[in-house]
Amino acid sequence: MECPHCKSQDTRKFSVIYESGSTHSTLGGVGVGIGEEGLLGGLLGGSAQSQTLLARRVTPPAPPEPFSGVVAFSFAVVFLVMGALFYSFTNPTFGIAVMSFALVPILVKMLRREKEKEQQYQDVMRRWTDSWLCTRCGRDFIEQTPGVASPEPLESKIRFILRAQGKIAATRCYREWTGADLQTAKHFVEGL
Ligand SMILES: [Zn+2]
Repeated sequence: MECPHCKSQDTRKFSVIYESGSTHSTLGGVGVGIGEEGLLGGLLGGSAQSQTLLARRVTPPAPPEPFSGVVAFSFAVVFLVMGALFYSFTNPTFGIAVMSFALVPILVKMLRREKEKEQQYQDVMRRWTDSWLCTRCGRDFIEQTPGVASPEPLESKIRFILRAQGKIAATRCYREWTGADLQTAKHFVEGL
């Protein structure tokens, strides 16, 4: 795969780097290959710290938290108790209404949010699967599949958010999309 930034052929898939990422020799080689001009070039000096950063950079996104049954259950209990109190002490009809209707929108909303989170994860995961790292210039890019509209590369998307919404938003998005820790995300955003 050719790097769209510097036309180098020295590129490797994120998934390949990640899978071989536990061995020191592999990561050391990548670190040296990236040189000084790369996005994280200064950080990839070959020390243990830089290897960790590279490994983190190519770490696949974390799956979303599973549906929080505890939260849903807590809401259910609160509304059932409230409804029961109304039923017993003030207005029985209103109490029943609170008990029966209050739960529905909450559960629907939660389920919808779960679905959104799952879709976001699918998008991020697809992006990660198609991500390549250029070991010459240190930049990453998304594999172009012929006939398929290519997703915007992570880097330019983050850059857009940085301009539109500022550093904190860009850092947060980078963390959400890559699963990187705060320091890695900050380094990335500051390097744009
Ligand atoms: Zn390159």
